[in-house]
Amino acid sequence: MSKPAPSAPPLKRFLQFIDGAFVESDSGGWHPCIYPGTAQAWAEIPRGNARDAVAAVAAAKRAFADPAWSKLTATQRGRLLYALADLTAANVATLAELETRDNGKRYAESAGAIGLVPSWLRYFAGLADKVGGSVIPVDKPNVLNFTRSEPLGVVAAIIPWNSPLWLLAWKLGPALAAGNTIVIKPSEYASTSTLEFARLVEQAGFPKGVVNVVTGVGPEVGQALVDDPDVAMVSFTGSEAVGRRVAEAAGAKLKRVVLELGGKSPQIVFDDAPLEEAVSGVMLGIFTSNGQSCVAGSRLLLQSSVYDRFMAAFLEKAGGKSFGDPMDQATEVAPLANEPQFRKALDYIRIAEGEGAHRVLGGGVASDRPGYFVQPTVFTDVTASMRIAQEEVFGPVLAVIRFETESEAIELANSTSYGLAAGVWTQDLRRALRVSEQVKAGTVWVNTYRGFDPGSPAGGYKSSGIGRENGHDALNDYLQTKSVWISTGQ
Ligand code: NAD
Repeated sequence: MSKPAPSAPPLKRFLQFIDGAFVESDSGGWHPCIYPGTAQAWAEIPRGNARDAVAAVAAAKRAFADPAWSKLTATQRGRLLYALADLTAANVATLAELETRDNGKRYAESAGAIGLVPSWLRYFAGLADKVGGSVIPVDKPNVLNFTRSEPLGVVAAIIPWNSPLWLLAWKLGPALAAGNTIVIKPSEYASTSTLEFARLVEQAGFPKGVVNVVTGVGPEVGQALVDDPDVAMVSFTGSEAVGRRVAEAAGAKLKRVVLELGGKSPQIVFDDAPLEEAVSGVMLGIFTSNGQSCVAGSRLLLQSSVYDRFMAAFLEKAGGKSFGDPMDQATEVAPLANEPQFRKALDYIRIAEGEGAHRVLGGGVASDRPGYFVQPTVFTDVTASMRIAQEEVFGPVLAVIRFETESEAIELANSTSYGLAAGVWTQDLRRALRVSEQVKAGTVWVNTYRGFDPGSPAGGYKSSGIGRENGHDALNDYLQTKSVWISTGQ
């Protein structure tokens, strides 16, 4: 008799973090984590529901009032964040492997992004005890009027799958430095690094309930957080469509909201650009993380007089890249993060061809391996009104548009509903200043791209969002001002 086939080992299960405990979902259900390199499930996360969200918010509300947190000095809160930064720095490799298993990003890129988390936490740790008030010289005798900056209460942080922990640090750092408590909802496509990070939160010594993580699909557990009356603020990073829904629901309940949404960022290359640097910058702008980056430079606006020279150098550099396992250091092109994202990129490639754009690079998928692999793809002869020039693909697809004059370049740059970022490539200082002033985008990089720092504000104009993250001012979004009047008698 032949032996029965060995059954597959059970999948690793991660747990939610609510009120200082690692717990399954109230639903009893599980959600699969799919490795994009093979399209196979590798782990499971709890499929959280509205009751999990309510429990996490209740825990965060209790923690906010508990002297174990509320009576800490700002310096003590800062110290806890420093401890969390150190623990994160010591665990980058483990956290990066989890992120790559979830979103298929090349391991080196995941480790690079998570390696930034400690500096974000340290920046906000340092700001915690720099928040002061002021004494106001009001036009009244015998009165002392001063201001206090106070935390809001429970903050819901809703994050996407492309760089979960780094983007979380943009919210968690200021939220906790300001004295709030937080409920985190990572994307159902990439939750495991955040759940592992929760262990570090516990080790760092944060009181229970100050940080909570609920997992599951957005319309179930995410929506419940936004609707919960005990959530004072929603800080959301994700797509424009969901961002609008979140803003409407939060607006109806008069909650504070910060939205970091999508983009269709232009890279404007003039004929006096430093050519080699511009070629590398445009490559980095669109093909880093396979274009799955909010600031992806997905439109190349190229001056006619340099068009042929630039495109020849660019296509030579961008072509011939091979697919590989994202965990493998040698891999050049990793898969897209999940099946919907894979289908969306392929749909846009078909749409661009249907619109009459000319495909000069890529467009193919990996026929010899499973997983969500799409080649780096470039379209020329794109016009401003085409969908490929207007809509966010969030994939490795570059749309090239030709221009003649500076004013035409500015008009093209501003011709989408988005305004997240822009790149300008020129050696003419005056032109760099003129263009960076007139482009409607939250960040403009000149002769560089993708610079980020915890001290430098990031956020969107137009449909790319509301509010700014990073920098001193970001802390104010997580604070409210109280004006105190005291009669001093005669
Ligand atoms: P998404 O909008 O689909 O999901 C983002 C988060 O919202 C996830 O956690 C999801 O579960 C949750 N969600 C979904 N429906 C919800 C609902 N009804 N209520 C509450 N929460 C809900 O975005 P995504 O696909 O995860 O990420 C890609 C998008 O994120 C792109 O558009 C990208 O440009 C944007 N992004 C922006 C920035 C930035 O800083 N501006 C950074 C990274 C990504």
